[in-house]
Amino acid sequence: MKNRLAGLMAVAVLAVAPFAVADDDYRTFDQASQSALTPDEALQLLIDGNARFVAGESIERDLIEQQRETAGGQYPFAVVLSCLDSRSAPEVVFDQGVGDIFVGRVAGNVVDTNLLGSFEFATAAAGSKLIVVMGHTACGAVMGACDGVEVGNLTALLDEIEPAIDAVSTPVGTDRSSANAEFVNRVAETNVRMQVNELLRRSDVIRGLVEQGQVKVVGAIHDLATGEVRFL
Ligand SMILES: [Zn+2]
Repeated sequence: MKNRLAGLMAVAVLAVAPFAVADDDYRTFDQASQSALTPDEALQLLIDGNARFVAGESIERDLIEQQRETAGGQYPFAVVLSCLDSRSAPEVVFDQGVGDIFVGRVAGNVVDTNLLGSFEFATAAAGSKLIVVMGHTACGAVMGACDGVEVGNLTALLDEIEPAIDAVSTPVGTDRSSANAEFVNRVAETNVRMQVNELLRRSDVIRGLVEQGQVKVVGAIHDLATGEVRFL
């Protein structure tokens, strides 16, 4: 009995070992590894990272070591625009470490001039291969926009989501308020698609990189209940 227990414990230790040995599981991006990556490979890294997150197998990184390693320069492979929502943090959801991805965050994940300038820096100057516009389910900003909330500066921000609300058609009599979770999620997805289009329309720099095949722009929805990110 004692021997069998010892054997089981040895198996358990072996099973856990791959996640304890952090160094083999990830790399910190440098100029060579970043430039060798295609936009599709960059997308795959995020897909794989989200799968690890959802499975509860996020990599144990030595973050302070990555901080030191990247002190002389950063070579992130992707840029993510996400909502301000505390449950939708791109580094966590995509299981990425220090220096891996640029992140821009604003309630309702809407693009503006400052964000566009930031993303142009991230791609044209800093070499990132992918831009992801990521919305999420049960988004408070989308709910507020659906309900026509007007509070201080938030009013102007929520106005940015209104075109997405208008673009979602529903049968007569449908509840188009935040009480209708399915409607809210449809608006969130439509908003993501519209923000992707808006980004390409307003940035000659990024559109040029996309046309040259150097950068890809994709939309995504993060499910707050499951953690899964669905690319559109
Ligand atoms: Zn949100």
